[in-house]
Amino acid sequence: MDFSSKFLETAIEEIALLPGIGKRTALRLALHLLKQPQSQTTDLAKALVDLKTKVKQCKSCHNISDKELCGICANQSRDHSIICIVEDIRDVMAIENTEQYKGIYHVLGGKISPMDGVGPNQLNIESLVDKIKTGKVIEVIFALSSTMEGDTTNFYIYKQIQASKHSLKTSTIARGISIGDELEYADEITLGRSILQRVPFENSLKN
Ligand SMILES: [Zn+2]
Repeated sequence: MDFSSKFLETAIEEIALLPGIGKRTALRLALHLLKQPQSQTTDLAKALVDLKTKVKQCKSCHNISDKELCGICANQSRDHSIICIVEDIRDVMAIENTEQYKGIYHVLGGKISPMDGVGPNQLNIESLVDKIKTGKVIEVIFALSSTMEGDTTNFYIYKQIQASKHSLKTSTIARGISIGDELEYADEITLGRSILQRVPFENSLKN
């Protein structure tokens, strides 16, 4: 396609790199932006640069944060003795939306998946075990999706925690959602209920 402007062509190429956006949609978006006031494109460009340069990872739970500690970890009215283990930040958002959980989180950053070359060392597991070893944690809730990788990851962490020799309650969220459903797709009421009605982790091992 000949765009008669190198700048337009470059913008289209960049926009088309985004997931789910083909060249045709990229062209439509670029032409839309071209018609908007200068301030809108400047704001968009700034937001994108800020996203990449200013967003950090919470040093305690690995949630996304603008500060060293995320708002949840920094909040002293949350129960810091309960840790909910999740795969990624979208799960934190999904559980927070239920407004049913008042503990803190630990974001693993993925699941153990030998097929994809993801081992325990690529995930935020060591910092979790260290946190538990302090003895201040009373309960750990496993809230990974119930896939084979999720179960493998749960079991690996469970073993690590057992080795820490603290008396610790371990539970898993009760599932009203079918096997393999990702947390972020569960509706808020179902997810909220499944956190409140969590079951001892050992029960999930018998299945
Ligand atoms: Zn945090």
